[in-house]
Amino acid sequence: MNESKTFEVKGMHCASCASIIEKTLKKIEGVESIEINPGTEKAKISFDLSKTNPEILSKHIEPLGYSLIIPTASTAESMSMSLDKHAKHLGFSQTKNEKIIELKDMKNKLLSLIPIVIISVFVMGFDILAQFKLIPEIPYFWSEFFHYLLPVLATYTLFVVGKPYLLGLYRFLRTGYANMDTLIGLGTLVAFIYSFVISAFEESLSSFINVNQSYYDVVIVVIAFITLGKYLETRSKIKTGDAIEKLLNLQAKTALIIRDGKEIEILIDQVVHGDLIIVKPGSSIPVDGIVVGGTSYIDESMISGEPMPVQKNIDDTVVAGTINTTGSFTFKATKVGSETMLAHIIKMVEEAQGSKAPIQALADKISSIFVPVVLILSFLALGLWLLIGTQYFEFSQALSYGLVSFVSILVIACPCALGLATPTAIIVGVGRGAREGILIKDASTLQKLGSVDVVVVDKTGTLTRGKPELISINNFSNSNNNELVSILATLENKSEHPIAHSVMNYAKEKNIKIKDISNFEIIKGKGLKGLIDGIEYFAGNTKIIKDLNLSFDTTLIEKETLEGKTPVILVTKEKVLGVVMVADAIKVEAIEAIKNLHKLNIKVVMLTGDNKNTAEYIAKQIGIDEIVAEVMPEDKLNKIKELQSKGYVVAMAGDGVNDAPALAQADVGIAMATGTDVAIESAGITLLHGDISKLVKAISLSKIIMRGIKQNLFWAFIYNIVGIPLAGGLFFPIFGWLLSPVFAGFAMAMSSVSVVGNSLRIKSKKL
Ligand code: ADP
Ligand code: MG
Repeated sequence: MNESKTFEVKGMHCASCASIIEKTLKKIEGVESIEINPGTEKAKISFDLSKTNPEILSKHIEPLGYSLIIPTASTAESMSMSLDKHAKHLGFSQTKNEKIIELKDMKNKLLSLIPIVIISVFVMGFDILAQFKLIPEIPYFWSEFFHYLLPVLATYTLFVVGKPYLLGLYRFLRTGYANMDTLIGLGTLVAFIYSFVISAFEESLSSFINVNQSYYDVVIVVIAFITLGKYLETRSKIKTGDAIEKLLNLQAKTALIIRDGKEIEILIDQVVHGDLIIVKPGSSIPVDGIVVGGTSYIDESMISGEPMPVQKNIDDTVVAGTINTTGSFTFKATKVGSETMLAHIIKMVEEAQGSKAPIQALADKISSIFVPVVLILSFLALGLWLLIGTQYFEFSQALSYGLVSFVSILVIACPCALGLATPTAIIVGVGRGAREGILIKDASTLQKLGSVDVVVVDKTGTLTRGKPELISINNFSNSNNNELVSILATLENKSEHPIAHSVMNYAKEKNIKIKDISNFEIIKGKGLKGLIDGIEYFAGNTKIIKDLNLSFDTTLIEKETLEGKTPVILVTKEKVLGVVMVADAIKVEAIEAIKNLHKLNIKVVMLTGDNKNTAEYIAKQIGIDEIVAEVMPEDKLNKIKELQSKGYVVAMAGDGVNDAPALAQADVGIAMATGTDVAIESAGITLLHGDISKLVKAISLSKIIMRGIKQNLFWAFIYNIVGIPLAGGLFFPIFGWLLSPVFAGFAMAMSSVSVVGNSLRIKSKKL
C-alpha cells in the first residue's frame, strides 16, 4: 500500500541538509519519492507501507543528526477533527514552540559571546596598532595574560557555541555527507588546531613558523558572526510563516448552539452537521452554514480581503472565521471541522508554502554540488599557497596565507543563503496572498502566473455582474406573457446558468407558477429542453432555432443584442413562441482592472457562449482586446490551445463550472469563487469573492515574488562568486587582497540575513 505523508524534520538547517536527507532516504527500500523543503523544514515522502514505515525512515537519518517528527495516533485522528487539532495535526504550534526554544538558546549563547568577542577584537586591534607602531607594545604582563586567555575563550566558543558545526564535521567524517555546518566546522577547527599546536610547541616550531600568528580570535569572531546570522535568520523565518498562525487564530474555540430548546456553549469540535448556532453581535462565526433566522452584516475581510461587510439574510451562506458586526442571527451548520472553507484555506496555504517552485531546482542542484566543490577548492587553495606561495614568501608566511585562504573559503562559500532564497519568498508570498483572498495552489503555479501574457476571461460573472435581469418579453405565442414565462421558468428551474436565475427571479416576483417537467436535458452551449404538458419545449440562444430549422426574422434580436442584451428564445419544434431579453450589468471595477492588465503588458481575451453582438458591445465598453463569442465549451478549450501554440502563456479565469476543461488546459487556471463552494482543488489560483481586480493583484503579487526570488538568488550567488576567489587569494598577486576569515564570516552571515529580510519585504509591498 502506498502512502504519502508530510513530516516535520528536526535538525535541518539548510539546503544541503535537504539533499543529504533526500539522498539517504531515497536509498531505503520502499521509498518512492521525496520532496524536502528547507524553508518549511518539511519532508513529503511517498513510501510503500508494506516495506517500510516512518519510524524506520527516521532511524536512517538519526545518525546524521536529523529525525522525522511523527504525529502520534492521538494527534492524527480522523477526518472530522476540529481546527485546533487540525493545527496540531499539521504540526504547527509545536514547531513554533520548538523554534522559539531554539531561538532562546541561541540568544543566550550569543549573549555569552559578547564579552568574548569584545576581548578578542580588543586584542586584535591592539596587535595591529602595535605592529604599525601606532601605540606602544602591550605590557608584558597583559600580553602573557591574553596569550593564555584567548585559547580558553576560543575553546569555549568552538566547543560550546560552535558545537553544531563540529557535529557537521563529525557527520561528514562518519558518513561522507557534507553540509554547510561541515564547512564552518572544518574551517574553525583547523584554525583552532593550528593555533593550539603553535601555543603548545612554541619553542620547537619557532624556527620555521611565525609563532606570533595565531587564529584564536578568528575562530571566535567567525563563530560569533555565523551564530548571529543564524539567530537573525531563525527569528525572521518564524515571521515568514505566521500567515498560517493568523488564519488558525480566526477559528473560534466555542459555539453557542440550541439543543433541546436551550442555548448552550459547546467546544468547537463538538458541533455537528445540522446544529443550530446562534451568533451574537461582535462574535465570530464558528463553522460554515446557512442562515435560518435573523439578519446581519458580516465582516468577511479576513477570508476574502473584501473590506465592506456583507449583508446576510435567510438562505445566505456564512463561513467560519468571519466576524459578525451588529445584528444577531441563527444559522444551521453545514460544514464542520476540516470541511470548512477556513480549514481548506489553511491546508492549501500550508501545502503551497511547502511546495517547490521550478526555479528552485537550479538552486538545489547548485547547493548539492557546492559543498564538495568548496571542500576541494579550500584544500586546493591551501596546497597552491604552499606550492607556489613558498617561492615568493618564507614558508611560515605562505603557510599562514594558505591557512587564511583555507578557512575563508570554507566560511564564505556556505550555500546557506542559496537554500533560503526561493522558499522564504514563496512562504511569505503565499501567506500574503491568503490575506488578500488570493489562494495559490502551489509554487509552480505562482511562477507561471508571473510570466502570463494573455488572460482569457469568461464574460458572465467575471466582466459582468453575473446577475442578469429579465428586461423585456416579446411574445409570439397565443397565450399571455405570464403563461409564456411559466413555461420558460419551468425549464430554467433546473438550470444553474445565470440566465436561469434571471428568469426564476422574475417568475418569483410575478408569482408565476412552475409546472411539472419531464425529459429535461441541457443542450451544451445552447440552452435546454424538456417535456411540459406533453409538449417538447426548447429554450436558449439562436443556435436552437438553427438546429430546429425554424424560420424566424432575427432583426429584433440583432437590434437588441447590439445594446448588450442577451436573447433567450423559447420554441417548440414547430415555432418560435417568444424572445425574452435579459441584460447583465457590467462590473465597474472590470474597466479599471483591464486597464491595469494592459499596463502589465497583458492581452485580454473574452470568451463567451453568448451572442456575438452582445459580446462585442460589452467588450467595447470594457476595453477588451479580442473576443471569441458564441463558443461551445470545447471551443473554449481549443481557443486556449490555439493561444498556447502561438507561444503565449495563458491564464484563464472562469467560474469553474462549465469552464473546467478550459481552466485545466490553461497554464494557470483561475477560479473566481463566490460563497462557500470554492473549487479550491481544481484551480491553480482561487480568488475569493473574486472580481477581476483581484486577478490583477494576484498577477502583480506573483511578479513581486518572482522578482524577490531572483534578487535573493543574485544576493546568494554574488557572495559566493565574489567571495571564493577573493578568499582563495586569487587577487593577492595583483592587488594584495586576501579576505580575512572574519570578513568571510560576516559576509556569509549577512547573505542569509539579507535574503530572508528581502523575502519579508513581500509582506508589505503594494500590490
Ligand atoms: P457562458 O458561460 O459564456 O454563457 P455557456 O456555455 O454556459 O457559456 O452558455 C452558452 C450560451 O448558451 C449562453 O450564452 C446562452 O445563450 C445559452 N444558454 C446556456 N444555458 C442557458 C439557459 N439555462 N437558459 C438560456 N440560455 C442558456
Ligand atoms: Mg459560464
